[in-house]
Amino acid sequence: MHISVVTLFPEMFAAVTDYGISGRALRQGLLTLNLIDLRSFTEDRHRTVDDRPYGGGPGMVLKPEPLRRALRSARADSGVDAKVVCLSPQGKRLSQQAMGDFSVGEPLILLAGRYEGIDERIIEQEVDEQWSLGDYVLSGGELAAMVVIDAITRLLPGALGDAESAEQDSFMHGLLDYPHYTRPQQFEGQAVPPVLISGNHLAIQRWRQKQALGRTWERRPDLLAALQLDPEQQELLAEYQREKHGEQQDTR
Ligand code: SAM
Repeated sequence: MHISVVTLFPEMFAAVTDYGISGRALRQGLLTLNLIDLRSFTEDRHRTVDDRPYGGGPGMVLKPEPLRRALRSARADSGVDAKVVCLSPQGKRLSQQAMGDFSVGEPLILLAGRYEGIDERIIEQEVDEQWSLGDYVLSGGELAAMVVIDAITRLLPGALGDAESAEQDSFMHGLLDYPHYTRPQQFEGQAVPPVLISGNHLAIQRWRQKQALGRTWERRPDLLAALQLDPEQQELLAEYQREKHGEQQDTR
């Protein structure tokens, strides 16, 4: 997987190049990253990347000429078919499914905005898709681009060891992940659920599936509504709901 990023702050990307799973994927060559410094595509003495907005108002806007040159350079490096994705609060909300679609191996060019954003003509002429982290405004697209890189990397074959498998992560099957516990067995008076130390793999698998269904029902009913539960899942969810109801009765 090859990802280029057009940014004013390539140094920020040490967070993904030097650490954790993305750092390892880069060292293993599963992922290649081309950090393109927007400022190096300026042609004036002051290396100007921004200017005042037409029509007045606060803030600055990233100028189109350096952006165009930087994106052309990114395309030359990644191939003309590379998808150009601009990180923007006005884009589609990022999802695990979108990350899966990105991770199929086609090169990706990420464009990180700054200030009030980028000249609209660049979006119209050069950008294929706009993606948002969520309904809030960041100071720049770098953190969003790093989120995309990290989430895509987890899905690249071989990037995770078996113990870190993405298969069981939240959203992979439309559900939230089940709760996890590690040693000690007793912590501050609270024990690990007994089934997890029973050694009964079938019972453990059933319990985990029930917790995943129950959590999704409690926390993200929108996700559950989008799923077609099979009869066993329906039974597990009903069991979870009965247990919850029982707990609530007990505390009254
Ligand atoms: N004036 C813009 C608006 O309200 O749509 C916000 C500009 S923001 C201060 C600067 C840059 O941060 C944007 O160009 C974008 O690249 C990035 N950004 C901000 N919020 C984001 C979000 N929720 N998701 C992805 N990128 C975001």
